[in-house]
Amino acid sequence: MTLKLLAATAAAALTFAAGAYAEGTVGIAMPTKSSARWISDGNSMVEQFEAAGYTTDLQYAEDDIPNQLAQIENMVTKGVDVLVIAAIDGTTLSNVLENAHFADIKVIAYDRLIRDSAYVDYYATFDNFKVGVQQASSLVAGLKERFGDGPYNVELFGGSPDDNNAYFFYNGAMSVLQPLIDAGSVNIVSGQMGMDTVGTLRWDGAVAQARMDNLLSAHYTDTMVHGVLSPYDGLSIGILSSLKGVGYGSGDMKMPIVSGQDAELPSVKSILAGEQYSTVFKDTRELARVTVGMVEALMKGGTPEINDTETYDNGVKVVPSYLLEPVSVDATNWEEILLGSGYYTKDQF
Ligand code: BGC
Repeated sequence: MTLKLLAATAAAALTFAAGAYAEGTVGIAMPTKSSARWISDGNSMVEQFEAAGYTTDLQYAEDDIPNQLAQIENMVTKGVDVLVIAAIDGTTLSNVLENAHFADIKVIAYDRLIRDSAYVDYYATFDNFKVGVQQASSLVAGLKERFGDGPYNVELFGGSPDDNNAYFFYNGAMSVLQPLIDAGSVNIVSGQMGMDTVGTLRWDGAVAQARMDNLLSAHYTDTMVHGVLSPYDGLSIGILSSLKGVGYGSGDMKMPIVSGQDAELPSVKSILAGEQYSTVFKDTRELARVTVGMVEALMKGGTPEINDTETYDNGVKVVPSYLLEPVSVDATNWEEILLGSGYYTKDQF
């Protein structure tokens, strides 16, 4: 007996022991409930899968890698039909996905690419490079609007280095900022650049806040910061607390322009209060719709609709993808985009 066969037999025995799922069950592994967007993603998927006649097992791992791994292993053991995974660390799932493959379970990477595995069948996400372009474009527009012609003092924050998306956001943003840095109209006063230096492990707002505190005390005692590239609303909140802590946003210290992502409620409120400048809206209901469509096609033996076969190389293969369009949101268009789409209702503000 080969090792793989042995593993499959062991898995089958465990399946029997653990009690299998009903036919047509989709396992949904989400990273954390600490950010509202993932709660919306999970809820939208459960709602839409159930409406299409599927059973779901939705699990959150509170950003703990072994926890997420155990949840997915359990789903494989209990014989889920399809896995939908938003990975915490996109590089840690190779073994469990190999087991999934031998158990004939299809795998969809949800929002975040799963790396280093041949067994990722499809990827549903947004145009992540464009998210970065939108963040930086909005930052630059805000700098002009609030601080005139420049040059501007700016600091950069990146997302979690174990999340493939973080590099796309950063590279997209730098495609806009690097020419301005080269031309001298944007100054990175600390000199801290590159994902190795500016990444924020686990997208943790407290980590971003602490780094902003350090940047302010080390580099901004006799000059002002005008803008901060932030890739996610949860980081923006931490960065803004740090800025407010030393007096920005009051007296003659104008609030720097701070970007964001996800249009989370506290950040949209912050935009309305004139603190955070902008965010990027990614409609999680739409991402759920695309994912449910992919699963339905797979379950019926068809081929899911994709619109990108080039961008997302996971180190082993280029994963066929469907990319949705992100939308830049600020104080001028939030009502049209966020209320107009029904993502939020007026009474939430
Ligand atoms: C998602 C972003 C989110 C970030 C932190 C990324 O993978 O694409 O929407 O802001 O994770 O949760």
